[in-house]
Order: sequence, then structure tokens, then C-alpha cells
Amino acid sequence: MCLTERELFYRHMGLPSRAPLGLEIVDAEGIYLFDRKGKKYIDLVSGVSVSNLGHKHPAVIQAVTEQAQKYMHLMVYGQYIQSPQVKLVAKLSENLPESLDSTYFVNSGSEAIEGALKLAKRATGRPGIIAFKNAYHGSTHGALSILGDEKLKNSFRPLLPGVTLLNFNDFDDLEKITKDTACVVLETIQAEAGIILPEEGFLTAIRKKCDETGTLLIIDDIQMGFGRTGKLFSFEHFGITPDILALAKAMGGGMPIGAFIASREIMKSLTFSPELGHITTFGGHPVSAAAALASLDTLLKEDLIRTATDKGALFYSLLSSHPKIREIRHKGLMLGVDIGSDKQLTTLLDDFLAKGLIVDRFLFNQTTFRIAPPLVITTEEIHRVCDLITECLNDVDS
Ligand code: PLP
Repeated sequence: MCLTERELFYRHMGLPSRAPLGLEIVDAEGIYLFDRKGKKYIDLVSGVSVSNLGHKHPAVIQAVTEQAQKYMHLMVYGQYIQSPQVKLVAKLSENLPESLDSTYFVNSGSEAIEGALKLAKRATGRPGIIAFKNAYHGSTHGALSILGDEKLKNSFRPLLPGVTLLNFNDFDDLEKITKDTACVVLETIQAEAGIILPEEGFLTAIRKKCDETGTLLIIDDIQMGFGRTGKLFSFEHFGITPDILALAKAMGGGMPIGAFIASREIMKSLTFSPELGHITTFGGHPVSAAAALASLDTLLKEDLIRTATDKGALFYSLLSSHPKIREIRHKGLMLGVDIGSDKQLTTLLDDFLAKGLIVDRFLFNQTTFRIAPPLVITTEEIHRVCDLITECLNDVDS
């Protein structure tokens, strides 16, 4: 008996979700996805902040093809001098504050967080880790330990000890950052909480408290990085520089790669006592590194980062006055549209899909939907998308 791919998917794939979207996508280009039956969808999720350049960007395809023809994996990370990796670290350093001049490549966001946590513990010799409620940093044990939601964590204890979770935007809670704290880990804008922006002065207050106590500040720019918010890196909006920066997702232009970045001084602590303080086989895979370099070059060359701000504002202006929308929280092309009802949201997401719009929920906010299209979306396409969203909102029962 020959099973269809749909049957094989449900029978043999380990699935985290009880009700996966189950779209059978056979092709993708720009902001569009095409399913097996030829139906065209507009991607307003970007694979959760990955496809910032859109799908099938020619610069990324060319870089991947050329590198695959030269070599793929040669040796575990950090032993051989590989051109795609060194060109990429140079380009990242050029575009980051001077203090972030040493990049360690990994394969994913969770791994970037794992490396950043280890680096902070090793560099400070301290036990404590501070993170925030409703933050998502990944699913591996270390990243899960700092996740700001008990429901996702409880079944996997024991987790890392010494973790304290603070309330985002609570200035008083910052007193819990002490000389025992190795690091504070945060997203500048809490994504999975439903796009929660920091209050004026909150991030600078954290930076100040970290400086006073000798605590390292880790910024997780995994979801907000690479132009999504209208700056190359989201911390640039807020007048602060992290001690360690975690990146992934859009970094590879669709290929898997992540990084944690610090000063050479801090990063050196993974080289001694013990030597090989963090190791990875595939981190910074040459094909992924080539794709990441092409993607970063393209982001910087094409006017996609600056225009993300205008495009986000256009979404806001076209949608925000709709009576069924309670609030839109946004920065650049990362928008959370809060309709104030879980039940309506479930219906709406089905209606969006029927109209060919791929829209998603957030992990920790059940009344808000995500609009995070590839940055290449045009103003005409935004108008079309907003017309469709408005039709669905008009039709959904109150
Ligand atoms: N940090 C943030 C803010 C994320 O949104 C995610 C993934 O959604 C991660 C870390 C984990 O990244 P990955 O899924 O690549 O391990």
C-alpha cells in the first residue's frame, strides 16, 4: 500500500502540535506559498521570523549553490579557516558595536541561548540567571529553564537551578539583579507574549543595574533581529548594547544557523579552563554561513530595513481603527493584533486561511494574532492583505 505524504506525515513524524496546520507546500517565492492543489497563500508569519528576505531569494540561492559545489562540512567548528564563516564574522563585526567583536556559530536559536548562558556563567563565575515571565528562548534544557511560562516547563523538571523570573516592565523587580547574578537574559520586545514593548527607560535601567552589579546582559534578538523591527538589530532602538547577543532565525536567509556574540575578552573564557568549553560539530555550517552572508549583504544593500518601519506603520494605519481590534502593538514589521477574544481568534485564523492568509497565534497570548511578513512585501500587497483581514474581521461574530 502506498501512503500519501499527508498520511506519512501523520503516521511517522514526531509532532509537537495536536492540530498542525498540515498545509502541503510545494513551492514558495517572495511572500507567497503554493500548496499541492495550486492554492496560493500569503505568508504573514515568515516561518516565525525567518524569511525576512522572502522565499527563494536569488542571492541566497546563488550563495548556497556555489558553496555546496565547493565544500560542505569539513571539520568540527572552529578548527579550519573556512571562507564563508570568516567573511560572515567580519561582516557582523562591521555592523555591530565594537564591543561585540567575537562571534561563536551554532545551529539554532536554542543553541545560541545555551552557549550564551554557559559563557555568562563561565565568564562571571556566578550561579544566578535572571529572565522574564512570558519570554520564550527555546526548547532545550537550558533555554527551557529560563522560559517564562510554567505550563511548558513543569513536566520537564528538574531544570537549571538558580533561575529567577522577573515581571517585564516592572522597575522594582530589577532589585533582584545582584552580585550573584551571572546574567540577565531578555528579548527587547517580548515576542511570544504577544509583542510587548519595553516601557520607556526599562531597558536602560536593566543595563545600569547590570553595570552596577557586574552582571552580563544577554539580548535574545533571535526573533526580532535582522531588520524585522526597522533596525538591523532590535537593541539599536533602545540605546543599549548587550554583553552577549544571541542570533538565529532570519540570520541564515532560510538556512539553519545561529550565533552568540560577545567581546573577545569574554569569549576567551570558553577557550581556557577548560579548553573546549563549548563545542559543536555543525555550528556555522559553510553552506548556512554562505547563505547568511548573502542574506546580510542583501538586507544592507536593498532598502528593506528602513522600509520595514514604514510598512509596519501602513499595516497599523489600515487596521487599527477596526472596531473589533482592541490594540495593535508593533515595531517595524512585527505586529501583534489584539482582538480581545480567544474564541474569535480561533474562528478568525480559519477564515484567514480560507482566504489564503497564513497568520499565526503567539505562545503566551491567546487573544492576539501575529503579522510578520517577509520584509519584501510591497505596499500594494499590504493593502490587499489588510482588505482581506478587514473582510474577515467584519464577518466574525462578536
Ligand atoms: N528565542 C526566541 C525569542 C525565539 O522566538 C525562539 C524561537 O522561536 C528561540 C529563541 C529558539 O530558537 P530555535 O527554535 O531556533 O531553537
